[in-house]
Amino acid sequence: MDTLDFDLFVIGAGSGGVRAARISAGYGARVAVAEERYVGGTCVNVGCVPKKLFVHAAHYAEDFHDAAGFGWALGAAAFDWPRLRENKDREIARLNGIYRNLLDSKGVTLIEGRARVLDAHTVAVGQRRYRARHILIATGAWPFVPDFPGREHVITSNEAFHLERLPRRVVVVGGGYIAVEFAGILNGLGVETELLYRGPLFLRHFDRDLRETLAEEMPKKGVTLRFDTTVQAVEKRSDGSLELHLGDGSRLQTDLVLYATGRRPLSQDLGLEACGVELREDGSIVVDDYYQSAVPSIHAIGDVIGGPELTPLATAQGMALASTLFLGDKRSVSLENLPTAIFSQPAVGTVGLSEEQARARYPAVLVYRTRFRPLKHTLSGNPEQTFMKLVVDGESDRVLGVHMVGPEAGEIVQGMAVALQAGATKRVFDATLGIHPTSAEEFVTLREPVR
Ligand code: NDP
Repeated sequence: MDTLDFDLFVIGAGSGGVRAARISAGYGARVAVAEERYVGGTCVNVGCVPKKLFVHAAHYAEDFHDAAGFGWALGAAAFDWPRLRENKDREIARLNGIYRNLLDSKGVTLIEGRARVLDAHTVAVGQRRYRARHILIATGAWPFVPDFPGREHVITSNEAFHLERLPRRVVVVGGGYIAVEFAGILNGLGVETELLYRGPLFLRHFDRDLRETLAEEMPKKGVTLRFDTTVQAVEKRSDGSLELHLGDGSRLQTDLVLYATGRRPLSQDLGLEACGVELREDGSIVVDDYYQSAVPSIHAIGDVIGGPELTPLATAQGMALASTLFLGDKRSVSLENLPTAIFSQPAVGTVGLSEEQARARYPAVLVYRTRFRPLKHTLSGNPEQTFMKLVVDGESDRVLGVHMVGPEAGEIVQGMAVALQAGATKRVFDATLGIHPTSAEEFVTLREPVR
């Protein structure tokens, strides 16, 4: 091969790309990352991080209310959206700087601009061409909005992070992570919120008990849920408000429509197909277990390869690829026991198999469930219930799934994920002492299974 500029050329400075770049550089590789938009990618700029800050902001409304039962008397609360948005922007700018420094400190070259793959070892950014031993596509995904009349009047999560002002009313369309999270955020910030989902019950891929519990809890907080509801058109009216034409012929007035109907891989116009990289119909890049595409020197990780679109998965894939390419230690990331949280209100935390998945794979499944009012709410008067569930293989006694709806579900289930990863049995859970009084202790005191 002729002279190479880099050992690894990464396209996309998001969670996966930055991690792959940093770790590869740490292994001695000469690395460049090209980024056309924002350093840190979706997670840092228009995803996980600002979303979680907004979730905290939204939760105060309920916290102020709950405080009264504990003797606190607060004046009328007032919420200042521009202040939250600007403080959030400042924090994101700080994180952008940290990401740049992370790359810089490892000697990774950051190239700002749109990259195109010219052949198996050549990438162009603007007028410049770079030769690399390996190319990594880590370009992520982008919100998808289906086609319908008036599509131009709706926004996606990308725009929701930068709204000039909060609307009085919002309709959120979709039944996945982003729809339930943003419905909770906007409702908490005082916006009249309706969530429309096309199927009979949202969060289709999750454990049914979790879905049903969340569907009971969200309306208690003020979110209107409308299932089996489709949108045929969105019309802008002369007063600036929006009218949705629904599948059943009815109409719905609102001020903002937020579509959260999934995301599509960003693999277009990168020159991939011309080089021989195979793409699926949805645009995701086909890779093998070691993130290698149909062209041996071109690799891909993260949202652009399809599968669960989760930051910790993309970063783990980035580390595995760095090890495969530059340590000679071939590694792949297992999707088993993948923990995940939905930062809805209340939150959902889950790891391992849902009851439905477990029953399809194992002949004797035991299920342990509990639903209770957390101690805090005995005084707050808040009607929120917490739900917890263990799914166990009755033959081996191994815990297959841990599921929760309630405060700090993500924090609690992260710990449970370690137990599942270690192959913990129900007996191990039973032998573990609780921490009293907590909600989490319920996971080690569940004793009555149902088959
Ligand atoms: P999801 O894939 O989670 O959900 C998409 C939703 O949109 C589903 O309810 C789906 O319905 C519905 N939908 C799809 N197409 C249409 C259509 N044409 N018309 C109407 N409804 C439609 O996508 P999100 O956009 O919510 O989020 C994208 C991904 O980002 C998530 O899957 C997740 O991996 C990641 N994410 C993770 C978060 C976290 O870790 N907390 C937070 C936010 C996002 P149906 O089920 O019927 O197909």
